[in-house]
Amino acid sequence: MRIVLLGPPGAGKGTQAQRLAERLNLAHISTGDILRQNVKDQTSLGKEAKDFMEQGLLVPDSLMARMLLDRLAQPDIKRGFILDGYPRNLAQAETLELLLKEKGIGIDEVIYLDSSDSVIIQRLSGRLACSNCGANFHIKNMPPKAAGICDKCAGKLYQRTDDKEETVMKRLQVYKQEAVDLIKYYQEKKKLSRLDADIDPDVVLNEIIALTKKHDSFKV
Ligand code: AMP
Repeated sequence: MRIVLLGPPGAGKGTQAQRLAERLNLAHISTGDILRQNVKDQTSLGKEAKDFMEQGLLVPDSLMARMLLDRLAQPDIKRGFILDGYPRNLAQAETLELLLKEKGIGIDEVIYLDSSDSVIIQRLSGRLACSNCGANFHIKNMPPKAAGICDKCAGKLYQRTDDKEETVMKRLQVYKQEAVDLIKYYQEKKKLSRLDADIDPDVVLNEIIALTKKHDSFKV
């Protein structure tokens, strides 16, 4: 089972992908988490990506393609995966298709988590991310059990620099520029399902699981 989650920043892609991956025993591929780890480790990829990320811009497609190629070469993707944060534009969708085709596989389900600007801003302004495992929490909606500490790995929680209001506005603008073509691409392939992601994340998770059940080879 291979799933792509699309949607604006703050729609809940990371949270849903993480829960789904645990529930369905799939690999969770978050391009944002991989980039943040590279920035933290000061790799050459991290150094190249840092400025783009801090400004809320997309990291160039060529860098992203190399990164994705490496990630798809890892053995855990054989059991299936959830892509969270890739593709972000039409060129990336085409690259993804090509890379998977070379492996003789394809995407089973593309789920578009649709969210309104007001909910996005409320979610991102209170979001806390784990500096160790990347898990997301929210000051009010999904607080950690102990303040400042990740429930899953006891890592330290922090506010992402790109969750500051001016950067959020830029990220939303970038998302909107690219989203129309991306959504059309998957609609034409009859792969896209749209879900309202403003509602309770537990309800959204159940709706995603219901969508995945239509695939014969797959059992929850
Ligand atoms: P995210 O954690 O998905 O919100 O991503 C954080 C930042 O990483 C984005 O604002 C981009 O700067 C960068 N990024 C993540 N995924 C991609 C991608 N597929 N293409 C380009 N940039 C990306």
